[in-house]
Amino acid sequence: MRRSFTRTALILRSRPQGESNREVWFLTCEEGILRATVFGGPKSRLRAHASPFHSGTLWLYHDPVRDSRKVTDFDVASWRPGIRELYERTMAAGAAAETVLASHGGGGNWKEAFGLACRSFDAFETAQAEICERIFIHFLWNWAALLGGRPGLACSSCACEPADHGILWYDGNEGSFFCPRCAGLDGTGGTEDGKAGGLLPLGPGGRRWLSAVEDLDPARLGRYSADAASRKEIRSVVTAVMEGLLGKRPATWDEVQHESG
Ligand SMILES: [Zn+2]
Repeated sequence: MRRSFTRTALILRSRPQGESNREVWFLTCEEGILRATVFGGPKSRLRAHASPFHSGTLWLYHDPVRDSRKVTDFDVASWRPGIRELYERTMAAGAAAETVLASHGGGGNWKEAFGLACRSFDAFETAQAEICERIFIHFLWNWAALLGGRPGLACSSCACEPADHGILWYDGNEGSFFCPRCAGLDGTGGTEDGKAGGLLPLGPGGRRWLSAVEDLDPARLGRYSADAASRKEIRSVVTAVMEGLLGKRPATWDEVQHESG
């Protein structure tokens, strides 16, 4: 086995390790998540390069005896310094990075995962404060698709198209949407009466927004707004979808600032 190798990598997280080293987590195009040690004190050039949200070419050395990896060089192609210049950007990008780690890098579609993460971080880099939540929610919605668990925006039971002004209900236990009739919420006593507890509504505004941004480059999200009530529904539903896929809810999600106005 070769001891030195290169990877195309994006840095997700960096933590102190011992007195002067850092433990760094990468998302790589070639094999998903990798963890490696960066040696050197606070003034080392390598340590400055190996900081969160940078991406580029990574040189690693693998010690087969200890089964440990160390970073020997990192040639940064995208620095994204703007993310650290605004609190909202930092929190939203951090929450996206923790989501990538919590889902083990995207479940096998490494290249696609790397592209989606990089595009989202590029968007955070220059985003106005109030757009950061939008980019984060868009990231979660597309990350759910990458993991193969994004529910379709239609009733999963009768496959009816929701009426223009109709509401879809998201059932976290099923990981699916239901129309009011199938959710037992139209007063006719649907298939499973009393299902209402724990269902999350998604009205026409939220449905339109989620459909419109599905394949959108996140850098263009500034032009896609939703009203305050729809935004609240979208965030509840999208975080519930991803929570179902991860089996947990990273605490960093709640640190993402709500869009005001
Ligand atoms: Zn239905």
